Amino acid sequence: MNILFAASEAFPLVKTGGLGDVAHALPIALKQLGDDVRLVLPAYRDVLAAMDLLTELGYWDLPGAGVTHRVRVLQAHYTSLDDGLEEYLYLIDVPALFDRAGNPYVHPDGYDWPDNAERFTVFSRAVAQMAKGIPGTDWKPDVVHCHDWQTGLVPAFLSMFHPRPKSVFTIHNLAYSGYFSHSDFTILNLPPEWWSPEFVEFYGGFSMLKAGLAFADQVTTVSPTYAREICTPQYGYRLEGALQHLGDRLNGILNGIDLDIWNPETDSHLVQQYSVTNNKVINNKKNDKHDQQWLSAKFANKQHLLSKAGLPSDDTSGKAPLLGFIGRLVEQKGLDLITSMLPELFASTDAVMIILGSGDSLYEAQLKLLADKYPSRLHVHIGYSEDLAHKVEAGCDLFIMPSRFEPCGLNQMYSLRYGTPPVVSFTGGLADTVTDTIAATLKDKTANGFVFKEFNAEALLLTIKRALNLYKKPEQWQQICETAMAQELGWENSAKKYQALYRD
Ligand code: ADP
Repeated sequence: MNILFAASEAFPLVKTGGLGDVAHALPIALKQLGDDVRLVLPAYRDVLAAMDLLTELGYWDLPGAGVTHRVRVLQAHYTSLDDGLEEYLYLIDVPALFDRAGNPYVHPDGYDWPDNAERFTVFSRAVAQMAKGIPGTDWKPDVVHCHDWQTGLVPAFLSMFHPRPKSVFTIHNLAYSGYFSHSDFTILNLPPEWWSPEFVEFYGGFSMLKAGLAFADQVTTVSPTYAREICTPQYGYRLEGALQHLGDRLNGILNGIDLDIWNPETDSHLVQQYSVTNNKVINNKKNDKHDQQWLSAKFANKQHLLSKAGLPSDDTSGKAPLLGFIGRLVEQKGLDLITSMLPELFASTDAVMIILGSGDSLYEAQLKLLADKYPSRLHVHIGYSEDLAHKVEAGCDLFIMPSRFEPCGLNQMYSLRYGTPPVVSFTGGLADTVTDTIAATLKDKTANGFVFKEFNAEALLLTIKRALNLYKKPEQWQQICETAMAQELGWENSAKKYQALYRD
């Protein structure tokens, strides 16, 4: 089948979160299964600059906010694109909307770009045009797969075409709904009949995400548990009614991870690579559980990470458990739980912690204060660093992810693959990927991490302490790490589920 992927970000060109990873890895997994998938992104300044060759295929004149834009569709080529992907990437070029520095959604001063409604309406109009046919090619999609609010209007525009390809809309995070005003709706020249609670109207304004729900042929989200959760008032952001209404048009398909990029056996960010398979070879020769390749490699990575972070890294203190956190510093990720339990954790255990992220200035300031207060126990790196992210996943002993809600979550899967058991709250994709360590799961060898159900700082602290007790028991600890590392986390299974959905 021909599948057109429309997204507002995709690794490695532009990424702010999990959507970027998915928009990179899922098309490749689908291609490997035989579908012809193509990706279309906005032509942001940094993306254009990364291209080796751009070919203009054609243009349309499309309405924006009270003006008409000349919208060019470009075929893009860049060297790191894999073989077979030569005709893979299209860019929608509208300099007035996308030729600007930095983050795709946010001004360098931290507020949303004021013309976001116009930017992503014009992008969505262009994607819908591509669905009719891409100038200069005879390629036409059978399915247009859209992602999050930035492309929510694509299924809506497609609904006006006959014949038209089918549309799939995937929710990566319901908390971001692309909510704009009635005057935006009017000036963007959107069809007046859409202004109804049945379609895009939402509490006095309009929601681009709701447009995706109302008009797509199928709606998916990124884990089975999140698919159930968002149909309830607690997680539904007032869209639970619309979501319940979808019935079996709503499905949860768990994200995978890119097994090449997140592979401790080949990861060039690490000072020593490791794997469970290597370990088994060593075990066959020598049945000594304590002399395992992955353990010593992991320890080397830990020492390197500690010294890079300026935390004590001599041999003795290197044995203190090292906890890691990576992510956006926002309420969703449970930063309030982390900041409130850290003093007690440092007072009652020998754990040290590394935090990598950026986000709300409140959390950034609180974390910096804590790092100043506990310089030998806490390192906080404010910013975005792929390199450090890999080092944290490999070098830590425990990965902390106490999310309030988590549509799927990628970091807990990376940490599983790197043999760093995650401590997670029981929600969304965390509940679907992490099996709590209790007597029964230790016995049947399914335990791969630690889960807490009551969402508060005390429960997080107790669960970390429960994990640290097991950390002192090498046999059980190694079993948990090895179960984690052996877990099936790739895209193949999920890609097959998307294929089945497209064919339905
Ligand atoms: P979300 O999409 O809600 O931000 P996910 O866990 O699904 O959360 O995905 C986050 C992705 O972004 C992961 O690939 C993670 O490693 C990455 N990431 C987030 N913050 C940082 C950071 N400060 N530095 C490096 N990578 C980061």
